[in-house]
Amino acid sequence: MIIGLLKEAGSEKRVAMLPEVVSVLIGKKVEILVEKGAGETAYQSDEDFKKAGAQIVSRKEVLEKAAVVIQIQPPEPELVKSLRKEQIWISQYNPLWNTDLVKTFISSGITSFSLDSIPRITRAQAMDVLSSMATVSGYKAVLEAASLLPSFFPMFMTAAGTIRPANVLILGAGVAGLQAIAIARKLGAQVQVFDVRSAVKEEVMSLGAKFVEVEGAREDAAAGGYAIEQTEDFKKRQQEAINEKAIKADVVIGTAQIPGKKAPVLVPKEVVEKMKPGSVIIDLAASTGGNCELAKDNETVEHHGVRIVGQSNYPSLMPVDASKMFGKNLSNFLSLMIDEEGQLLLDFEDEIIKGTCITRDGEIISERVKSLMN
Ligand code: NAD
Repeated sequence: MIIGLLKEAGSEKRVAMLPEVVSVLIGKKVEILVEKGAGETAYQSDEDFKKAGAQIVSRKEVLEKAAVVIQIQPPEPELVKSLRKEQIWISQYNPLWNTDLVKTFISSGITSFSLDSIPRITRAQAMDVLSSMATVSGYKAVLEAASLLPSFFPMFMTAAGTIRPANVLILGAGVAGLQAIAIARKLGAQVQVFDVRSAVKEEVMSLGAKFVEVEGAREDAAAGGYAIEQTEDFKKRQQEAINEKAIKADVVIGTAQIPGKKAPVLVPKEVVEKMKPGSVIIDLAASTGGNCELAKDNETVEHHGVRIVGQSNYPSLMPVDASKMFGKNLSNFLSLMIDEEGQLLLDFEDEIIKGTCITRDGEIISERVKSLMN
């Protein structure tokens, strides 16, 4: 089997595999074609890939020869149309949100896998790119907040007076939120956290942060650990509690998301207007609308002296380790579809293959995507 690795388009700096992953896959008897310059922005040279056993070729050749074509970011519709029906596409493409892209895959008859749909079961933990990338995002979000804030994070008692620690408010304690709590605590900030899932309370507290509870949140065990939409009454009470904390915060980090839905707006414009000038909001949910009403994806806006950073791709800003983690997860996933002779073997009885496959032969395979689109 030939696996083709594409160079990412636009501002994306990661690459889906580092040379170390190429070596592992070559050991499984597959051939790897790497598009020239694919690793450049992640500081990996063509020479490094060649030494690992890959062939460096043009984009055209990757697309012509590879049975499995890989990149990190969703493909442009034109790229999907240039693939052949028997080829397999693997990337992240958030099918619950990018339903037009799902339709393009259906009409092209391509078998597509979206790595953000890997089931969150124990056996798939080593393949979970969402978790790895959320770890990077939570880390970078706090570092960016700390560098933009015109004050210290830690408390200082100096001859020049006492500096109070920064007040950090974190909305959502999933993987990114928990990482953000850990880093903000390490930097000495006081951290308060909101989430609609009561299960995270203990984790939040064990990291030394305060969990702000709002009673009456809806939870659904069938949602696989994810949040679900809340009632209007709960939203109103949660909003009042968040408003009170946000107004006193130096930093707000928004990580709250609901799969397939617009992110909940938790920091409306009027609350931003009551925040302290100089405060910073980092919105990791900006690509699905943002937790802050004023957030714009991939932009920093300033309103009443509050800077609102709408950054939904911090992993691209830390391309070496982000690519390393992504590639390790990817190679674990690919191992499920390579037989002992290095040939493609797609076992749709395997819940990881079935759950991650979004389209095949013009049909939707993923039950979650199917229920959303029907
Ligand atoms: P996510 O990115 O979907 O959401 C981030 C957080 O925002 C979640 O904790 C969610 O509850 C919270 N949220 C949503 N709406 C909110 C609101 N209105 N107010 C406040 N908070 C809100 O979540 P994630 O980081 O992908 O993690 C989701 C779950 O999956 C977690 O329980 C995590 O532990 C679990 N998980 C399991 C595995 C595994 O078993 N392999 C791997 C990773 C994560």
